[in-house]
This record gives sequence, structure tokens and C-alpha cells, in this order.
Amino acid sequence: MSDIDRAPKGPDLYIHYCEHQGCDNWGSWGNSPSATVTTRWWCFEHFPHKSFEQEQALRRKLEDAEGGTTVQ
Ligand SMILES: [Zn+2]
Repeated sequence: MSDIDRAPKGPDLYIHYCEHQGCDNWGSWGNSPSATVTTRWWCFEHFPHKSFEQEQALRRKLEDAEGGTTVQ
């Protein structure tokens, strides 16, 4: 037994997955209205504070993933 095997604990290593119900993706997108409010985390798809450009990029990505069945 050794203490070296224990994972170090710190604020930077806090585990945060997307908080969207039923989603188990990694929450790489955080948002906090102020320093006193706990940061909430979402994956890119569920992040509710995306800019217009980010929203467009996500839509294009989802449409591509559908297999190119889109008829223009
Ligand atoms: Zn998500």
C-alpha cells in the first residue's frame, strides 16, 4: 500500500459531466454567472449559452452525422 497510488485532489481535477438529464458526455463547457455561484457543466451539444456561430456549427455537425440524407 502506498499513498503514491492515490489520485491527487484539487479544484482542477473536479469530475464534471454534462448535467443534461440522461446525458453522460463529459461536461467540457462550463458556465457560472458569478464567482460565488457554482459552475455548471454541459457537453457542447447541451451547453445552453452557445453563441449563434457555435449553434450553427453544431447543427451542421448533427446534419452530417445523419448520413447525408438531407434533400435540398
Ligand atoms: Zn450533454
